[in-house]
Amino acid sequence: MDFKDWHWQKKHSLKDISNLGLNFISTNDTLVTPYLLSLFQSDKIVKQFVETSKTDSIGLEDPLFEKKFTKSKGLIHRYPDRALLVVTNKCFANCRFCFRKNNWNSYDGFSLKDTIEYLNNHKEIREVLISGGDPLTFEDESLVRLIKAIKSIKHIAFIRLATRALSVLPYRITDSLLEAIKPYKPIWFSIHVNHIDEITKDFIEASNKIIDSGFPIVSQTVLLRGINNDAQTLKELFCKLVELRIKPYYLFGCDRAVGNERFRVKIEEALNIMESLRNNISGLCVPFFAFDVDDGGKVVIEPNRIVSKQGNAYTLRNFEGKKYIYEDTQY
Ligand code: SF4
Repeated sequence: MDFKDWHWQKKHSLKDISNLGLNFISTNDTLVTPYLLSLFQSDKIVKQFVETSKTDSIGLEDPLFEKKFTKSKGLIHRYPDRALLVVTNKCFANCRFCFRKNNWNSYDGFSLKDTIEYLNNHKEIREVLISGGDPLTFEDESLVRLIKAIKSIKHIAFIRLATRALSVLPYRITDSLLEAIKPYKPIWFSIHVNHIDEITKDFIEASNKIIDSGFPIVSQTVLLRGINNDAQTLKELFCKLVELRIKPYYLFGCDRAVGNERFRVKIEEALNIMESLRNNISGLCVPFFAFDVDDGGKVVIEPNRIVSKQGNAYTLRNFEGKKYIYEDTQY
């Protein structure tokens, strides 16, 4: 056995953990890698992957209205200059709060031919986000074939590769994978990480490998009640990420998928957390806070710094809560 072999990890992933004596509710979609299981001493990790309280049934089946913007199987075009390609419904581990979890059947693959045709016909698209599921569940050859085909389109300036692997199976980041995708730079990695307990020695080794190979990394975090909904927890996470050369990019409000209600955090509480982050840590460590509104896409919100406006003069609130008058330009 080689614990650090990602194929071994995948093969030995657990679907049933009822005999582990953990406090959880059995579901038929549990999926945990042996690596992830080794992190289960942290309840902040357990709660992300295993049901620990009764699930609810409030919410939407397709909270981002992705069906409405699907142009060909797997290809979603919602924003002007970028497209999203959902290449698989397979992950290394299943997150309880995933917004696609109720709709997995409609994400079971994509058509390369139709994707390339659509991208070729839409010159306004500069960026393709390859997501899933987790595209790193693909073997290197399949992933490279896909990336190569997309990068052969002249107006596609760069690719973003979304993955949860660093948190749940960091051994997936192999030298051979990074070597194989090097010819197709720029490729940005977009990682999903929610708690500092996910940042292990193996996570760090994998993120260093990616960055040292010339691929920048941004992170996405979901704001989750009972897991990371306090400023101190997020401060630790975001500051650590920047230390590792990873830019915290988005903090997302948990999407209103069926079964997610107990994870959701009120907007007012989220804004207070953002205010505290903004006031206390470097701007480099502070992501955008955003959530998705039906078919309207992402909305970024910030605590309001404008107290009032009179004519040309704005009254603004600084990071200490003090008010200042700022004269706007006359031009
Ligand atoms: S890794 Fe991503 S796609 Fe997979 S279950 Fe988690 S949130 Fe959903």
